[in-house]
Amino acid sequence: MNFEIKTLQLTEPFRIAHGTSATREVLRASNGELVTEAPFVPYYGEDPEQTLAVLQQAVLPEKLPRTAALALNLMRHEIICQQTGRPLAAFAESKLGAAAQAAPPGCRSFSIPTDLDAFEDRVREISQQFPVLKLKLGSGDLGLDIATVSVARMAAPDAHLLLDVNGGWDLAEAPLMIEKLAEYSPALIEQPIHHRLGVDAWEELRALLPGSPPPIFADESVQTVEDVRALADFVDGVNIKLLKSGSFDAAVAMVEAAKEQSLQVLLGCMIETSLGTTAAAHLAPWADWIDLDGHFYVTNDDYTGLMYDACGKLMMPNRPGIGAVPR
Ligand SMILES: [Mg+2]
Repeated sequence: MNFEIKTLQLTEPFRIAHGTSATREVLRASNGELVTEAPFVPYYGEDPEQTLAVLQQAVLPEKLPRTAALALNLMRHEIICQQTGRPLAAFAESKLGAAAQAAPPGCRSFSIPTDLDAFEDRVREISQQFPVLKLKLGSGDLGLDIATVSVARMAAPDAHLLLDVNGGWDLAEAPLMIEKLAEYSPALIEQPIHHRLGVDAWEELRALLPGSPPPIFADESVQTVEDVRALADFVDGVNIKLLKSGSFDAAVAMVEAAKEQSLQVLLGCMIETSLGTTAAAHLAPWADWIDLDGHFYVTNDDYTGLMYDACGKLMMPNRPGIGAVPR
């Protein structure tokens, strides 16, 4: 097995509540023709070179860095899928049962705007194709957060708006902002408070919310199946990503736990190439919402896999395994 780091050049510096970045790295594992990918995310603080050094040791440690663990897990699936001729989704189906419906409609994300006029034009344009728009809030300026949602709502009156705060509000601000933003009929509000505040803060937030608030989702607060269960009484849904879970198997287990708790599932991704987002997209039929557009931010995406048609409908490649191929 070979490992290498690929540096992704981003279309624009991506600004969210955690900070701004202009490049990202992904880990690539290859085994003959088979290649898998897992992203490095500043949030987890894993160093690409250190991860590579760990993988080049003669004996791998029991606990691998998250990114390495995911790339290796996907490779195990890829090898089996190539032998059986089945897509990665077949594994999910073996655990979760046949999906009740087709994949949810495609979504595009917008980083925190710096120019609201340019943002408005872009929202109008993108909403012609994509029925779901994800807006990054938590700018540190509550007025800008409200203006972002207001401008997007006017530019895209029929869009489903997913508002992702990335933990950018405190426990005093969050209930007020949720009540205010409910006026714009968002489909959901994600991670309004910081994950470091813990489960107690989610319980407190739930008690402070108005009568029928928009659905509240947890993202950074939900890393494991145990987190899904611990938050089940205080949130309406969870954001599940392959990297957070650390393996495709663990992501499937989190989807299963969410369904057991009657929680909605938002399937997300990181900034990664089509090889990474296509792997995640195999879980789309079991999700209520998908946010799988990480590859759109990459100018040097060297794979092709999942696509969206003119109406934003997700189209998966018809090949075994992940199914993405080099461009
Ligand atoms: Mg999020």
